[in-house]
Amino acid sequence: MAAPLYGQMMEVPLLASSLLSHASRHFGDTEIVSRRIEGDIHRYTYRDCEKRAKQLAQALVALGVEQGERIGTLAWNGYRHLECYYGVSGMGAVCHTINPRLFPDQIAFIVDHADDAYVFFDMTFGPLVETIAPQCPNVKGWIALGDASCIAEHLGDMSVPVMSYESLIAPHDGVYDWPLLDERQASFLCYTSGTTGNPKGALYSHRSTVLHAYSAALPDAMGASSSDSILPVVPMFHVNAWGIPHAGPLVGAKLVFPGKDLDGKSLYELMEAEGVTYSAGVPTVWLGLLAYVKQAGKRFSTLKRTVIGGSACPPAMLRTFEDEYGVEVIHAWGMTEMSPLGTLARLSFRQKQRTPEEQRVSREKQGHVLFGVDMKVVGDDGRELPWDGQSFGDLHVRGPCVIDRYFRRDDSPLVDGWFPTGDVATIDADGFMNITDRSKDVIKSGGEWISSIDLENIAVSHPQVAEAACIACSHPKWTERPMIVAVLKPGATLTREELIAFYEGKVAKWWIPDDVVFADELPHTATGKLQKVRLRELYRGHVLPDVAEKAV
Ligand code: AMP
Repeated sequence: MAAPLYGQMMEVPLLASSLLSHASRHFGDTEIVSRRIEGDIHRYTYRDCEKRAKQLAQALVALGVEQGERIGTLAWNGYRHLECYYGVSGMGAVCHTINPRLFPDQIAFIVDHADDAYVFFDMTFGPLVETIAPQCPNVKGWIALGDASCIAEHLGDMSVPVMSYESLIAPHDGVYDWPLLDERQASFLCYTSGTTGNPKGALYSHRSTVLHAYSAALPDAMGASSSDSILPVVPMFHVNAWGIPHAGPLVGAKLVFPGKDLDGKSLYELMEAEGVTYSAGVPTVWLGLLAYVKQAGKRFSTLKRTVIGGSACPPAMLRTFEDEYGVEVIHAWGMTEMSPLGTLARLSFRQKQRTPEEQRVSREKQGHVLFGVDMKVVGDDGRELPWDGQSFGDLHVRGPCVIDRYFRRDDSPLVDGWFPTGDVATIDADGFMNITDRSKDVIKSGGEWISSIDLENIAVSHPQVAEAACIACSHPKWTERPMIVAVLKPGATLTREELIAFYEGKVAKWWIPDDVVFADELPHTATGKLQKVRLRELYRGHVLPDVAEKAV
């Protein structure tokens, strides 16, 4: 057999640092604007950003950080967080973004499991750092994202020794060559609690980060451009803000970071002030924004489109944005394990020939895969189901930006080489996927996960509870909220309020169930497994107390 003939192109590895270098060199004057924890608006350029990211890389080298070591961040969307993204991954370490909304014990578990050498944090999270630091003995240093005076003002005396980010990077000159890493080396690490049990880590590579940025930026994906001013509301601590901090520099778009204030008024004012054309976030955030613009009688003067995902976009929200405000909605689906983009509801030429109503039906679905993702729905026997828009089954995906396994776990999550998403879906003849249910036992509230198993375990640890199940109840603001269906032990006198109060201090406040109902028994299968699907059917119409009050 003849020897293979190889192409004669340059061997340039796909590295995260190349995204920022490209933006700095070719869109050097393009702005990055951030609302800071300090309260003011900070603005600088891609050129400034790369210099400071390089200063950070030099500082990490000076601290003795080695390639492959994990460096945690607990931070809002802002320029210093972006510098951490690139400074850390660029020098060969792994930027591990941590979700500060989780319960402190879970955060400590994640920091410990990832074995973070240092953790960078926004000053808002000072109290959190004090709580978790004793449980994270391997962390060599906690670095507050600010300068010394600002840290003194915002953090006061902390029991944990804290370094100042600005003092850390100041001695370095930013004259530094990004190392030529192997593109398969790890770049970013994100934990997800979207499956049962402890949070699990998705460890991205430089190659997957850059490939994902390429496909995310395509016109039929997020469609980012150098003419855009992009405001990612989706947090940089949740799956790399859906890749915007990578796709933005790839196309040279202006970036606008909202910091910690995500209420409708703050977002609206920042969008108008910075000419934002494009945004992305979960439905709950947009409810707040839409409520504000309606009540204040405002219009969007520059916003053209927004990506809505993380949870199903309610059709009414899509209509309000488009019909009342002229803002195009792009419904998207993805998951941490997929870097995260999977599908976007953008219509093909053929679909656009159909009636407006038919087009809208398609756009309410989760949409078409982007390049690099393949998907299928399979039935109980594991066989692929037809793309008829009717047959629903487990949604499986594969591709170069999909995980092969979880960080520090040997067991493979894959089934025949495909990753099972835990979502139940249909695919239609246009290749448009529609999520119809979820087989994984979790609840998604305001875009963040709540483990139903954890809540059930707490309920059954109450001495008067015999059995309990936790299911999602639909909620107009949070999309889903947890409720408990409990069976009491004989003679028990436990009330709904007492069981709800039992959760206090055991889980994050926003995990506490909104309602408890008592039942004589729970539905089980012949093998004694709880029938969650049946239970969800039984309580489908259940109205949560706070929703009922508001409706009166
Ligand atoms: P995460 O890993 O936190 O990004 O969560 C991913 C999961 O969120 C998916 O597997 C779905 O269950 C859910 N999800 C994300 N986007 C959507 C969407 N557009 N519609 C319905 N569910 C979604």
